[in-house]
Amino acid sequence: MIDALNVGGFEPLTTIDYPDNLSCVVFTQGCPWRCRYCHNHDLIPTSKQTQFDWEQIVEFIKTRVGLLDAVVFSGGEPCLQKGLLGAIKRVKALGFKVGLHTGGAYPNRLKQCLDYVDWVGFDVKHLPLNYEEVTQVPKSADKAWMSLNILLASKVDYQLRITKHPELISDDQLDRLKKLMKNKYDSDLIVQMCNADNCLDDKLRIV
Ligand code: SF4
Repeated sequence: MIDALNVGGFEPLTTIDYPDNLSCVVFTQGCPWRCRYCHNHDLIPTSKQTQFDWEQIVEFIKTRVGLLDAVVFSGGEPCLQKGLLGAIKRVKALGFKVGLHTGGAYPNRLKQCLDYVDWVGFDVKHLPLNYEEVTQVPKSADKAWMSLNILLASKVDYQLRITKHPELISDDQLDRLKKLMKNKYDSDLIVQMCNADNCLDDKLRIV
């Protein structure tokens, strides 16, 4: 039996979630972390019932063959889903490229999926010693760095990015993180400014 995918949102057309590709985005429901800046926090509860049905979304995706380049799995944390690998295989079999957004909380599932994924947007949260200050989950850095090493060993195309909230990471810390990524992984770190009007932690909200 194929595990279902618990979907919390769907974007039928986007140009920004997979570089240089027209995509649709499946937002999976549930995340093990509680990033203080998270602005999609409706997607955090894992057991929440949603209005989205994966089978109906697959039927829609079938109508986009030849019109879209890729299907992106985002979240939430897609690698939390037991059904992710099966879902990826289904859209891959339809001829789409597959993009995956992840923070790296589930290294084993990431590893299982990488053979079928064309591009990963990997969300770095902070310097390793400061991860918990963002995610509010102990040892989250261990999982994230394990996942990052798996990703880089896989040769799958990727982008490393970080969401910057000025209260959570200083310019000096950001510079050190960029140098770490450059020196250790020969990778650039893309900095995205935080959408701070709806942060999970209301003390971080800037309206
Ligand atoms: S920002 Fe953090 S808490 Fe929110 S969905 Fe992403 S990883 Fe989960």
